[in-house]
Amino acid sequence: MKKLATKRMKTNPESGYLSSLSLLPLRAKVIKNEKENSLVSLLTLDLHLGALPGQFVMAWKPGMDEKPMSIAEVKPSLQLAIAAAGPCSKKLSETKAGEYIFVRGPLGKPFWPVGKKWLMVGGGYGFAPLRFLARVGMDSGCSVESICGARTKDLLMKEAPGKNHITTDDGSAGKKGNVIAVLEPLLADKKMNFDCVYSCGPEKMMKAVAEMAKKYGTHSQLSVERYMKCGFGVCGHCAMGGWLSCIDGPSIDGEEALANPAFGVYHTDRAGRKIKY
Ligand SMILES: Cc1cc2nc3c(=O)[nH]c(=O)nc-3n(C[C@H](O)[C@H](O)[C@H](O)COP(=O)(O)OP(=O)(O)OC[C@H]3O[C@@H](n4cnc5c(N)ncnc54)[C@H](O)[C@@H]3O)c2cc1C
Repeated sequence: MKKLATKRMKTNPESGYLSSLSLLPLRAKVIKNEKENSLVSLLTLDLHLGALPGQFVMAWKPGMDEKPMSIAEVKPSLQLAIAAAGPCSKKLSETKAGEYIFVRGPLGKPFWPVGKKWLMVGGGYGFAPLRFLARVGMDSGCSVESICGARTKDLLMKEAPGKNHITTDDGSAGKKGNVIAVLEPLLADKKMNFDCVYSCGPEKMMKAVAEMAKKYGTHSQLSVERYMKCGFGVCGHCAMGGWLSCIDGPSIDGEEALANPAFGVYHTDRAGRKIKY
């Protein structure tokens, strides 16, 4: 494993990342609602938050639950990429320009910088926060490459700045197969020499990414999304073992995640039942 200066940013009530301001509900007007793909809508809001890649907001409309949504960009203003997965996310994703939604945030621990050569590995809507991270990395002089995976062509997210590799499970665009098919040769290539692999997407995919990074002695960071209710460490619903996705994460060191017996094995549903992946 390469020796690199890593800057660990902690998120806990003492660290200042969870400020009381992040708990205030903010009303945000939707300026634009664009289709990213057949499932995901990209909402641009008239809200300016000093947020970092990997952080999220709790978002809602009157009469529905709050739902965690990763921050997809802060420039020129806050953007959220919302997949219509169930009733609440569908309502949010259908908000038209000129209408309002509500958010609390920014919440959670962001990704932290490791070295100057980064590789993004995203699955589905999980590519959105990585695209934000890629942009921030490139603005600060890092070299960034990305692998964006989806089940089919019509579920692909838009590209990130820098070089992009595409994979689809059915081969309808890019390389046929999952992101690992592209990740392994890139990590095995000594000339590439990535400092850190950043990943966000389905937990089983991230587990495979973290295992692959470990095999090639590369640092990895993941964004672990668990079913979340409060978003600030009170309800305990998003626990993965003793680790809370909302305040200890969502960003986590890949090896720390691999050492957690619940990672990629089971998650909890909205009623708190343990469900095997
Ligand atoms: C930190 C974090 C960041 C997230 N960022 C985004 C984002 O940028 N864009 C986006 O579209 N979604 C994101 N999600 C997931 C999003 O919050 C859920 O899709 C949403 O809560 C679904 O709510 P619903 O009421 O529409 O559907 P529900 O009826 O509650 O769920 C619909 C389906 O989605 C699954 N689901 C619910 N919550 C989650 C979850 N946390 N993770 C994975 N699957 C879930 C359920 O098991 C069910 O199969 C994020 C979740 C977390 C924890």
